[in-house]
Amino acid sequence: MGYAAGRQAGGLGTIPTNRVIGMDEQACGLPALSVEVIPLGKVSQTAVAVAAGNVQALLRLEALVMPSWPEPDYALLPLRGQYDAEAILARLAQGTPACRLRLGLTAHDLCLSFVSHVYGQAQLGGCAAVVSLHRLQFFSEGGAAPRALALERLAKITLHEMAHLLALTHCHRPGCVMRSVTDLEELDRLAAEPCPACQARIASRKRLLEQASSRVPEFPGPG
Ligand SMILES: [Zn+2]
Ligand SMILES: [Zn+2]
Repeated sequence: MGYAAGRQAGGLGTIPTNRVIGMDEQACGLPALSVEVIPLGKVSQTAVAVAAGNVQALLRLEALVMPSWPEPDYALLPLRGQYDAEAILARLAQGTPACRLRLGLTAHDLCLSFVSHVYGQAQLGGCAAVVSLHRLQFFSEGGAAPRALALERLAKITLHEMAHLLALTHCHRPGCVMRSVTDLEELDRLAAEPCPACQARIASRKRLLEQASSRVPEFPGPG
């Protein structure tokens, strides 16, 4: 879902995936679904704290701030001067434990093959999401955005992409953070949280995943 091929607009996207976290996997022993917040190279500590804080406070998922991974040089598209969001998601998804989700944060500008830029990208119902801080610091028409506004945008995009990981699709209700947006002005008009219907979907999906990841594996009994 997200953007049709050929559409030259930025926004918040998803990549469909067949993986359903935890559903058919052995319990990993952790009590609840948690989110690894991973700086990809040099990323402001405040931005990491804001992303982790929103995951923890608004999604009520345990946020674990992880040590930085290297800069995502493997995803650099030299002719575009941007980074391939799908390549970053593929790398983030490698080896993710069944009861964890991964949120990568990057200071670099992200794009997809047929999309000029994205603010964030996530595997729908998968385990990896990435958010770029690059464009959030500016206004579309140019000029630096206030730092508080940039961080508010980061909080919204983080929630949006994390909800995609919880298998939520886009919402059409006015102001909901799960609306599909194509520019920063649209993003700025959204609330900083999901609408009640999306919140209910998030709660139900979390319950399902946590039940699956805390399930005790069955072994044949004696005799
Ligand atoms: Zn989206
Ligand atoms: Zn909604």
